[in-house]
Amino acid sequence: MTKAKRRGKRTRKEKVDMLIVNANELVTLKGGSEKPRTGTQIQNLGIIRKGGLAVKDGRIVAVGKTPEIRKSFSAENVISASGKIVMPGFVDPHTHLVFAGSREDEFQMRVEGVSYMAILGAGGGILRTVRETRRAGVERLVEFGFKTLDVMLEHGTTTVEAKSGYGLTLKDELKILGVMKRLNQLHAVDVVPTFLGAHAIPLEYKNNPQEYVNLIIEEMIPRVAEKGLAEFCDVFCEKGVFNLEQTRRVLVAGKNRGLKPKVHADEMSMFGGAELAADVRAVSAEHLLFASDEGIKAMADKGVVAVLLPAAAFSLMTGRYADARKMIDFGVPVALGTDFNPSCWVENQQLVIAFACHFMRLTPAEAITAATINSAHAIGRTSEVGSLEIGKKADVIVLDVPNHMFLGYRFGVNLVDKVVKNGRLVVDKEASGIKTVGLF
Ligand SMILES: [Zn+2]
Repeated sequence: MTKAKRRGKRTRKEKVDMLIVNANELVTLKGGSEKPRTGTQIQNLGIIRKGGLAVKDGRIVAVGKTPEIRKSFSAENVISASGKIVMPGFVDPHTHLVFAGSREDEFQMRVEGVSYMAILGAGGGILRTVRETRRAGVERLVEFGFKTLDVMLEHGTTTVEAKSGYGLTLKDELKILGVMKRLNQLHAVDVVPTFLGAHAIPLEYKNNPQEYVNLIIEEMIPRVAEKGLAEFCDVFCEKGVFNLEQTRRVLVAGKNRGLKPKVHADEMSMFGGAELAADVRAVSAEHLLFASDEGIKAMADKGVVAVLLPAAAFSLMTGRYADARKMIDFGVPVALGTDFNPSCWVENQQLVIAFACHFMRLTPAEAITAATINSAHAIGRTSEVGSLEIGKKADVIVLDVPNHMFLGYRFGVNLVDKVVKNGRLVVDKEASGIKTVGLF
């Protein structure tokens, strides 16, 4: 090629909205969108050293080495990630985003040794939050959810799943799902709604749980589906809450109305929840602290994603965690979520990654996959988010660490430097940072 031709080519750079360049590591997670990663594949982060990407109209239009990106694209807005890592925004596949009140006094009781199930049995726990959420108006719930999403976004989460389940009447469940819809419209973070009417047996049905299950199946699910307010249907399947038979009925009823099944399974005891999740072809089973080997194998066979929630296990204070290593060995795809709720008040997926490394022995690479592309699988969003690939949403985070192994290793602080959501810079620590004044 002649010099003139090369110069000519340089002038024909495509103009885009934003470039992110010079990342020490560009963690792409490329190639994980078809099937969730498990086994040794879960370590495969698709890292490009000195990587960069181009963004146009809210989407990723190029990913590669920085010189290649620079050669083909130009933008007024160029973010340098020199010395830092760039990766997809976190996807949080399990939150109870919308509720009123708090339960710090119950936290103190749990610290003193009272169990979670004992508190629930005495009308506290979920049931107390239900009372407060029923009383709360829509505006108050929207305001609270909005603040929570702000905190999540500041910590690098760009997509969350959110469960209802603090209403437990048709009217209140619809109210909560309506709040989630508003939040999805108002806030930069994408909110993926799950109907969890089967979160607890409300006090008014204490002596007739079957009637409450009928109410869920005959009234709540049809209305939720008809109004298009949820994509998934979930059940808290546990001894003393919803048994296997009730769980199956609710999940099948949901499925018949187009709500994909999810299950809170085997959290407090070995109850057969993992097996049931496989049997009803659930998209995911969550918690799984006590899942049996048979249940784990069945999940692997049917491709059910294990959504593991080590922060919830941490907050239970029993010292027990899901056996993530066994799940990965058996071929179950593992995802990670916060389980943000009034008894596990954490918005930060970086801390969840640290817990996953320390308590479940995931490597940082495995935990990163679990908190991004595998989480996207758990909520049916792999065509949009979870990896940095051409055509996906430009949901990108810049972390102020030199390589990905710092995730989990450096914990308890926010490593986020910048968050780009739908191609817009929405968090910029550099711009809003604290100015340290020297005392000299
Ligand atoms: Zn939960």
